[in-house]
Parts: sequence; C-alpha cells; structure tokens
Amino acid sequence: MPDLDTIVRDIAEEMRARPDRGEVARYIPELAGVDPQAFGLVVIDGDGRAAVGGDADIPFSIQSISKVFTLTLALGMVGDRLWRRVGREPSGSPFNSIVQLERENGIPRNPFINAGAIAVTDVILSGHQPREALGEILRFMQFLAQDNGIAIDEKVAASEKRTGFRNAALANYMRSFGVIENPVDYTLGVYFHHCAIAMSCRQLATAGLYLAYSGLHPLAGHTVISAERARRINAIMLTCGHYDGSGDFAYRVGLPGKSGVGGGILAVAPGKASICVWSPGLDAAGNSHLGRIALEMLVKRTGWSIFGV
Ligand code: GLU
Repeated sequence: MPDLDTIVRDIAEEMRARPDRGEVARYIPELAGVDPQAFGLVVIDGDGRAAVGGDADIPFSIQSISKVFTLTLALGMVGDRLWRRVGREPSGSPFNSIVQLERENGIPRNPFINAGAIAVTDVILSGHQPREALGEILRFMQFLAQDNGIAIDEKVAASEKRTGFRNAALANYMRSFGVIENPVDYTLGVYFHHCAIAMSCRQLATAGLYLAYSGLHPLAGHTVISAERARRINAIMLTCGHYDGSGDFAYRVGLPGKSGVGGGILAVAPGKASICVWSPGLDAAGNSHLGRIALEMLVKRTGWSIFGV
C-alpha cells in the first residue's frame, strides 16, 4: 500500500479535477456563495500525524457536524436520560422532515436529524442563558480541536435565523408535546449558532480524535467520554449520520460519519484515524457528493472499513 500522504494527496488531486461536484446548499442564503471548487481532505492519527490534501486549512460552515459534539456534551450533562427526549433509530427521511414527529409524540427519531439536534440543543440550554450554552459548546470545540481561534460565523447564523422557517416549525411542534422546554427562540438561536461554527478540515479531524480512540483525545491528553459512550456515538453516526443516505454511506464507505450541508463530513476509523473531508457540492440527500466519493476511495486504498477489507 502506498503511504498515507500519497493516498490522500492523490485523492485530493483526483477530486479537484472532477466535473461532477453536486449542488451547493442554497436554502441557507449565506452558504450559496461558497466556491464549489473547494476540496479538502485531512486524516489524523493518534500521534497527531496528519496526511493532508487540498484546502486543509480553509474554515467552512460545519453545520450538522456540530451535532456530534452537542450530542457528546448533552450525554455528559444528563447521561442516558437524554434518550427520553430523542430516539436512536435511523429516520429514512430527509434531514428536515416533520412527518415522524406526529406519529411519535414529538420525540425525534435520532439526534442527527434537525428535530433531534434541536431537542439535544434544548437539553444543553436548560438551566443556562443562551449565551452561556453557546459559550460552552464553542469552548468544547476549541478544546477538542486544540485551537482557541475557532469562532462562529455570525453571518451564516443570521442568514439561517432569517430563513429557518422549517426548523422553527419543528421546534414549535416539539414544544407543543413538551419535548422542547425552553423558549423556542432561545433554543433555535443556540442551534443556528452552533451550526454556524466555522472550522477547517484539520480542525475538525483533530476534534474527532476522541471518537477514534475510545473516548480518549490523544493530543489533548484527556478522556473526553467513556469508551462505551464513544462506541455508541460511533454507532449512531454510522446508522444516522447521513440522513436518508446513511444506508448508502455505510454500504460504500463503512465508517461512522456525520455530514453537514456546508459540504463537510467527519468520519471515524476506530483505532486508526479521524478524517475530515470538505467539498461544498451536495447530493440529493444533502450530503457532500465528492466528500463521500473521496472517503470511498480512501477506505478502498487503506482497508479501513469497519466491515473488513
Ligand atoms: N443548520 C442546518 C439546518 O438546520 C443543518 C442541516 C445540515 O447540515 O444537514 O438546516
């Protein structure tokens, strides 16, 4: 097998040359202007060795990738009581779907669809002011990425707040069942802001290391969560991390992964590496088109799928 640096560089070059790039998300106006030609791939192992290709250090909107970290925080705060407010089953529905909420008493199917992530945000918010909750999330990201420069892109947050009618509908609907406890505006404000955190592939791959190493962040030298909890979060990423494209992602890539409509995907190769890829063009399910293809190539060339070589 060629060395990892060569594999990652080759994939980045190949991806940059491809004409099929998918469609940049337009429903959040501020994201519509992102350059569809951008492409980055970073693989980091437990010793901090990074293999990088393309735009490894350009910050982009992490969007739903933030949901992995808010889930981690909420589990740390309330433990398994979280599962009274949100399920753990794949939804088979689009990321912003409302239909299942009616059948299931306002309990979202999983923490990674929008409704589920809004419910998780509400748990983090309880007992705090929105500013405190957001500060806690941001500091957690800075700690995991080992970079205090990470910030929220206020323009993206404002853009989503102005146009996020569907998310407002989901939150109000859940509030009617008591699944959301705080004022809906507060919960949505925190949710939009954590989705609007801007990070690079290198920062996100660093932040994901604790999931690849059984809850221990090897670079921070700190146990973030128990091994059992890391394993379970990885399981939810595998089954629910790509909305109604989760089955296909497991089939093609075979790694726990979480996508965001900013075009990023965080993927975890347990015991081997934390990976982040970014290509802003999306497929029909709202997942990065070339990001998925790049990960499929990486897994083929490294044999890292959790299902075997
Ligand atoms: N902030 C986005 C939304 O709520 C997240 C969606 C995503 O990244 O999939 O619509």
